[in-house]
Amino acid sequence: MGISRRDFLKYSGGTAIASTVVGLSPEEAEARERENRTKGAQVTTTICPYCAVGCGMIAHSKDGKVVNIEGDPDHPVNRGTLCSKGAALFQVANNPTRVTKPRYREAGASDWKEVEWDWAFDEIAKRIKKTRDETFVRHNVKNQEVNRCDGIAHVGSAALDNEECYVLQKWLRSLGLVYIEHQARI
Ligand code: SF4
Repeated sequence: MGISRRDFLKYSGGTAIASTVVGLSPEEAEARERENRTKGAQVTTTICPYCAVGCGMIAHSKDGKVVNIEGDPDHPVNRGTLCSKGAALFQVANNPTRVTKPRYREAGASDWKEVEWDWAFDEIAKRIKKTRDETFVRHNVKNQEVNRCDGIAHVGSAALDNEECYVLQKWLRSLGLVYIEHQARI
């Protein structure tokens, strides 16, 4: 549900009044609301994907849907605290504007179109093979055996963790790639 700044002030004011009526402070009312939201939820510990601080988080989920994300009080880095960016991570998991399917723009076209995952995977595999076959270098100018793929580069995401980077390196090096970059953060 979208909420404007005016709505936010109206509802938060209403909550404060309601809290006073039932004898709860705003903090207590918020804690109770959170307790109700997370009751019976599956609990998973995770790490904030945003920056190198690497704050620990707890994600609560029900029926496969994230219902709450908060700082992990047992994590030695942040002891339960989160900055405003990390505290808003819930909105990344639950956001109607989140892109959940691959999009493709044909050469010369101006618009992107949504495509199926299977189609995208097949296309990527086909194009990697074609480019690798066409640009693979077995020997350098000194006739030394190098077995490298000069035609493909890889740029990794800032949100990749150690394990994902390890698997990516294995795969990219096995293809013979040498141009590999990554904005390491976590
Ligand atoms: S919560 Fe904030 S400080 Fe902590 S890792 Fe995320 S972005 Fe960095």
